[in-house]
Amino acid sequence: MDYLPIFFNIREQRCLVVGGGDVATRKAAMLLRAGARVHVVAPEISASLQEKLGEGRGTLRPGLYEESDLAGVSLVIAATDDHALNRQVHDDCRARQLPVNVVDNPSLCSFIFPSIVDRSPLIMAVSSGGKSPVLARLLRARMETTIPAAYGRLAEISGEFRDLAKQTFPDTNARRAFWEKQLQGQFAELVYAHREDEARAFLTQAFAEPHAAQVGEVYLVGAGPGDPDLLTFRALRLMQQADVVVHDRLVSKPVLDLCRRDADFIYVGKARSNHAVPQEDINQLLVRLAKEGKRVCRLKGGDPFIFGRGGEEIEELAEAGITFQVVPGITAANGCSAYAGIPLTHRDYAQSVRFVTGHLKDGSPELPWNELIHEHQTLVLYMGLTGLEHICRQLMQHGMAADMPVALISQGTTPQQKVVTGTLSDIAGKVADSGIHAPTLTIVGRVVELREKLNWFEPGSC
Ligand code: SAH
Repeated sequence: MDYLPIFFNIREQRCLVVGGGDVATRKAAMLLRAGARVHVVAPEISASLQEKLGEGRGTLRPGLYEESDLAGVSLVIAATDDHALNRQVHDDCRARQLPVNVVDNPSLCSFIFPSIVDRSPLIMAVSSGGKSPVLARLLRARMETTIPAAYGRLAEISGEFRDLAKQTFPDTNARRAFWEKQLQGQFAELVYAHREDEARAFLTQAFAEPHAAQVGEVYLVGAGPGDPDLLTFRALRLMQQADVVVHDRLVSKPVLDLCRRDADFIYVGKARSNHAVPQEDINQLLVRLAKEGKRVCRLKGGDPFIFGRGGEEIEELAEAGITFQVVPGITAANGCSAYAGIPLTHRDYAQSVRFVTGHLKDGSPELPWNELIHEHQTLVLYMGLTGLEHICRQLMQHGMAADMPVALISQGTTPQQKVVTGTLSDIAGKVADSGIHAPTLTIVGRVVELREKLNWFEPGSC
């Protein structure tokens, strides 16, 4: 280990920054975040640095560095492009045994800055010992993506219960086991969902009955249209902690592969007009699993609240008094349009967009046709493949131009994505000839033409 990693308390301490440019500004901002009083000396001081210090947290001395600037200082940063000056600052600090950092010059540093992930009071620091700051930054970015934004709040609220934890579990092993369970369970989930009062109440109850069985819960998670890169951080986290995953036909294999390996997987998918598991049974299944104390991830294609029956499932959960949370996903319209190069709105072509289903509860695609005929509105049809010819005919009969552009996107966002384009009058024939497979999404509107303008041709497009 070339350096000792420590966290330095500089609250209310006077710290010196030599230099007044962008780098000095960033370093001063970091010191200010840690509560220091910052003294800056430089012949020229950037406006943003002046502004930061103007908030009463520091002082400026326009001019050249002098040794007397070190009086009463606990830590020094030199951020100038004058090598001789940087060396001078370093030598003066060393003579006084003051910690000093010369930016971008590890040989003149008694300490170096790590890359940090700040979830105060939790702070994670990564350093490459000055060998490859970019690598440290890339690692930091990875940590940023895997650590929930509310981790800091989790630490803060847990801290409120430290004394109670010590009283309840005098034995350290029992205490650690308790915290491990809470910090990966419902208490943590409530904090992440910003339901902090409920989180406190939950934890208080857990302390009162530490040996109560685990309480089950349901996560209704939007898995997006297929490409696993489109999952949200929250979706991924819950997929990896659930005991049971209940999934649909539309959830892609690469997405399922990201779930916890040893979870139980239950397939409740429905093929069109072939309901593998009736909705009511799915609702009951979720309730039963949660009552058994399981953490259940109900994975649904796209977004759970867009043609996903998410509403029906949570209604049942709410009635049964089961805790749940809903995680939005990228709906097929967003995913397919982005991956096919078709903006859903555009100031010149479409000022509104409407999502409709081409498959109604009774099986017929009877839609409010008159409402759908707008020159400047994009129509997105979910579940419309078998009814496509009927839908196009109805739109034309109700006054939509026969040359209105249409795109049909099959297996959107996946490596198998295919796009067929045409017009209201010829798309059904083109699709029949193309042999493409469900799921498909249909986009009707002038915006479809933009795909060609944008020169958008992905592999596999027809
Ligand atoms: N909740 C889902 C929609 C469920 S309805 C969402 O928000 O996306 C099922 C319909 O969604 C399919 O019939 C199809 O029209 C559309 N769909 C879902 N995923 C798709 C994909 N990868 N490519 C094309 N269409 C898709």
